[in-house]
Amino acid sequence: MMELKIQLIPTGEIILSPGKNGENHCHNCKVVASDGVRAMMESALTARDRVGVQDFVLLENYTSEAAFIENLRKRFKENLIYTYIGSVLVSVNPYKDLEIYTKNHMERYRGVNFYEVSPHIYAVADNSYRSMRTEGKDQCILISGESGAGKTEASKKILQYYAVTCPASEQVQTVKDRLLQSNPVLEAFGNAKTLRNDNSSRFGKYMDIQFDFKGAPVGGHIINYLLEKSRVVHQNHGERNFHIFYQLIEGGEEDLLRHLGLERNPQQYQYLIKGNCPKVSSINDRSDWKVVRKALTVIGFSENEVEELLNIIASVLHLGNVQYGGEDSNACITSDIQIKYLARPRVTLVLSVFACLHLSLTFLSLCVFHHQLMSPLNLEQASSARDALAKAVYGRTFTWLVNKINASLTYTSDSSKNYSVIGLLDIYGFEVFQHNSFEQFCINYCNEKLQQLFIELTLKSEQDEYEAEGITWEPVQYFNNKIICDLVEEKFKGIISILDEECLRPGDASDLTFLEKLEDTVGGHAHFVTHKLADAKTRKVMGRDEFRLLHYAGEVNYNVNGFLDKNNDLLFRNLKEVMCMSENKILTQCFNREELSDKKRPDTAATQFKASLAKLMEILMSKEPSYVRCIKPNDSKQSGRFDEVLIRHQVKYLGLMENLRVRRAGFAYRRRYEVFLQRYKSLCPGTWPNWDGKLSDGVSTLVKHLGYKPEEYKMGRSKIFIRFPKTLFATEDALET
Ligand code: ATP
Ligand code: MG
Repeated sequence: MMELKIQLIPTGEIILSPGKNGENHCHNCKVVASDGVRAMMESALTARDRVGVQDFVLLENYTSEAAFIENLRKRFKENLIYTYIGSVLVSVNPYKDLEIYTKNHMERYRGVNFYEVSPHIYAVADNSYRSMRTEGKDQCILISGESGAGKTEASKKILQYYAVTCPASEQVQTVKDRLLQSNPVLEAFGNAKTLRNDNSSRFGKYMDIQFDFKGAPVGGHIINYLLEKSRVVHQNHGERNFHIFYQLIEGGEEDLLRHLGLERNPQQYQYLIKGNCPKVSSINDRSDWKVVRKALTVIGFSENEVEELLNIIASVLHLGNVQYGGEDSNACITSDIQIKYLARPRVTLVLSVFACLHLSLTFLSLCVFHHQLMSPLNLEQASSARDALAKAVYGRTFTWLVNKINASLTYTSDSSKNYSVIGLLDIYGFEVFQHNSFEQFCINYCNEKLQQLFIELTLKSEQDEYEAEGITWEPVQYFNNKIICDLVEEKFKGIISILDEECLRPGDASDLTFLEKLEDTVGGHAHFVTHKLADAKTRKVMGRDEFRLLHYAGEVNYNVNGFLDKNNDLLFRNLKEVMCMSENKILTQCFNREELSDKKRPDTAATQFKASLAKLMEILMSKEPSYVRCIKPNDSKQSGRFDEVLIRHQVKYLGLMENLRVRRAGFAYRRRYEVFLQRYKSLCPGTWPNWDGKLSDGVSTLVKHLGYKPEEYKMGRSKIFIRFPKTLFATEDALET
């Protein structure tokens, strides 16, 4: 009995071919030849009915959101978490381990065209890799979705795919190991348990993987974006601080903890108890500690550096325990020494902070509690100075860590840039909480920029190209969110400029004057509302200290409290000075003297973020993008639960329906005439070995000879447009035979 593989391809046709055992993920499509073609068709259709279509372009009712979601649901039920929209991969987090990431699976996707195998993250990885190799163009894979949707897991799978399938020499193996091991380190220092995700990335990450001319990964580079530093000093109920603190306390060896003056109990530390959540069932801090410790060694951290790094981590914990009370209060003592310091405020200091940082005890204490050595700070000021120091130390150490990893991944070839690149972007998705602050404002602004990039690279550029090439085309309507990007970032009159202005203005500037300025300047904008400007209905759901932005993905109210402080992100100068004096070499790299002599005020947090996003857009624009759109199936981190309301919202703001409409109307491939002719001229006696006439005539001769049907392609001014991938695949196959 022969086994057949049935493939549904984007045209709606069915391809039958001999199947290898277990070859196709969609094993329900296998039928027995003797049942006859009719039975096969029926069986395939039944299977299709149950498992849905593997590419949304195959949906009959492709403009219906309900049909879209129904298809996702069917596939999710069958553990088919991946579905295409053309070349965009939609992924639904299964919240359980699926047996689809084995070496065998990797092999199955290697060098195979998209539609020959079921949708998979490996197909995207392989496709980018092949495009990079054959077309010599740098690639990037943009992974988006909300917190917990599976972005980081997807990026790890891609990295693993390259590590396993790309050629390797001994030197390359070291790079592969370091690339892989950078993940546990960055996750330990940059991820935390939140209400939405037990391993939530609290920073954005863009990683370049560099490949040499043989296609071997020979280096890498990471750029990090906006670490959520506020988590170091405060966590919401049910959330934790960054993983590394718990890993060190739970997993650190006795000697190490003694040396660092730490107790094996997270509840002892003020900076770890705010969320009242020291243990998480899905996390094993002790074994994670071992993984991180080993990863640091693989990446090339010396014992000395590790010691200094851990000293900093411990000092942050100790710093959090620095307590001070009023004149009469009994300051709490958490460590071995109490220093009653000056009369006001009375201070209890933990010696360990200073021991860990190799600092003069008296000097730092003076700095923490006295602004300019002369004026004592009040309690609130002193505690916010302490927290600012903890955040700055942790934040800068994180950046140091990224730089250190980058140094270990630096491609040391003699020529400067003889490598190709695949970039991976794993960055926070759109966030809407009960209470939204400066962080959500930045994150959502970032998502507006990414949506703008998507529009530029996919929707707009696609349509512009058809127009430029004179291809008849039914334009697809989409919302261009540039208007919102401008509202946030425009010079002088954008929200960031107004915020900066208030931050610089001496005198009575406050969060509320910032809000007033916003009302004066952008009050009339169609995507901006405040309590004062809102209609009666909206006013009911808005606070007087909030402004609302009508993002492309939905409405968000931002509370202005803390905007100025967070944007200023100031650290008292004397605290910086004292950090420069530390004998800890990491700290002296993080706080250097040049910064102190620089009279210019540093850029604000929002302006720095805006600049880093502009740079990111430049990087991404120079590459050929692929998209992975991740969807979270439910809010309870449960496998098998498909929450339709939640999913519909994500389908909307990920722009999947627009994406599908453009895809359905469009052409899968396009090639410049000369490139197309050069590649395939050998397939036609009329064009081989050289075509002397007009390029478009040569291409016409060639495709007629190949038997392309008129509905399969269109001739533009400088390019041929091919509607279905299978047409091109068949031509590619002909080349090989
Ligand atoms: P955040 O924005 O908070 O960083 P994220 O999109 O990066 O979220 P992940 O950390 O990748 O989300 O995924 C959350 C969790 O979901 C993972 O820890 C894992 O338990 C589960 N998960 C995600 N993708 C998969 C997958 N492909 N297979 C199995 N489990 C997965
Ligand atoms: Mg993540």
